[in-house]
Amino acid sequence: MENKNELPIFAEILPNVKSMTVSVGLTRSKEETLYEFGLYPLKFIFESKSPTKTISKSTKTFSTSKLEIPLIQTVETSEQPIITNSNEGIDIKLKLRTFVRKRPPKKDISISETYQAPFNSTKISSFKNILCSYCKKFLVKKNTLKKILDMPSEHWAELVDCWMCHQEDYKHAKIGDIIAQENIGLVSNSYFLLHPNNIEEDSLKVDEEELHEIDWTKGMSKKWISINCSRCFASVGDGLYCKSKEEEKDELKLLAVKLNKYMTLVEMEGGADADKKESVIQKYKFTAFLAIDFLEATKVHATYRFIVKGKKLKQPYLLIWLFGWDSKIMTNVLEECNSFKIFSRNIEEDCSVVESNLKICDVMKILYIDCTIINQDTDDDKSVRLLEQWRKDNTVEHFIYQDDICLELLLLLRKSTSCLPASKKYMNEFLVGFMDMNG
Ligand SMILES: [Zn+2]
Ligand SMILES: [Zn+2]
Repeated sequence: MENKNELPIFAEILPNVKSMTVSVGLTRSKEETLYEFGLYPLKFIFESKSPTKTISKSTKTFSTSKLEIPLIQTVETSEQPIITNSNEGIDIKLKLRTFVRKRPPKKDISISETYQAPFNSTKISSFKNILCSYCKKFLVKKNTLKKILDMPSEHWAELVDCWMCHQEDYKHAKIGDIIAQENIGLVSNSYFLLHPNNIEEDSLKVDEEELHEIDWTKGMSKKWISINCSRCFASVGDGLYCKSKEEEKDELKLLAVKLNKYMTLVEMEGGADADKKESVIQKYKFTAFLAIDFLEATKVHATYRFIVKGKKLKQPYLLIWLFGWDSKIMTNVLEECNSFKIFSRNIEEDCSVVESNLKICDVMKILYIDCTIINQDTDDDKSVRLLEQWRKDNTVEHFIYQDDICLELLLLLRKSTSCLPASKKYMNEFLVGFMDMNG
């Protein structure tokens, strides 16, 4: 922290009840400390005065620290804030001002309706190439993509199959099976779908370890298998493979390629006024893509409960209960641990939870259970029972990500929980955390 005397602050805006709670952590000291606060429509000032060593008995000096918290929403200064004490600090509940308007207010558009995945087709009209995010190898054949189109929702294939009363297990019918077309790049929320003929020669390699585990006699004849960059072996996505018998020997045939948006970089032409020859390379935080996956599931299936599973280990990492997607928070306690080293080399070098500078951040509020630490042998544990319940419940959506991504998400949520005051870290058996919406 910049200022060692700065008190830890965590503030949350609760739009549905038109209030804002500011939690201030107080220092533990034997000395008596005096706290004062001032409430203004757009700021909140918190001051603490503690006596310093006295020089003579007649003069008492104080060390003061002042904290100014900017507010983005106007608070009702005429209304008494509700102040509650706890042994870790104080909570100050402020009422947000509601304006009396002469004209009808503009419709409040929820972030879930306007939120768009980074790199959708309108945003990448000047698309040039996709690169391995670790070694920056180009993965797409230059100038071969004639068109870039947004793909219908991942749940689309699922729905079509339901309407047609298809016999196949619809959860396994993925959209990529149907529409990988040469020279057309399809963009989904979290990946690009390309035809193998548009992939740079020998730039991708099937993950041998995963291939080895596959039982071709079971399930669908086409299977999605992880693919790696052929130069640095970092994972970049999945390939749809089938086995064809050619001249008596098994031949592995690549039918479609999915390049994960968060494991690659996107090269685009420079901005409108910049020199067109200059290209820009862009990348977003992986949480931006998970956020859109979660939001879409809530819209399509009206479910807020998810199991996040690892692709390789096939084990659940997290139970997630999406509590709210339009939460706003503000804190200053993450500074010291904000950026942290991550497991997978091709996601990003440093990954931060939110900015820790008392700026308001849009976050998804997430209740979660860390499945990696629950002991499944003790069935009297609440978390174990919940995991079992959710597994059987078909209204719970399952998300399968690379194991690295699952660990990353887990770590990020844990970090976010660490900045909450102790009394707010739990909700029943769930931990409370949040995820930045702006990747
Ligand atoms: Zn590479
Ligand atoms: Zn679905």
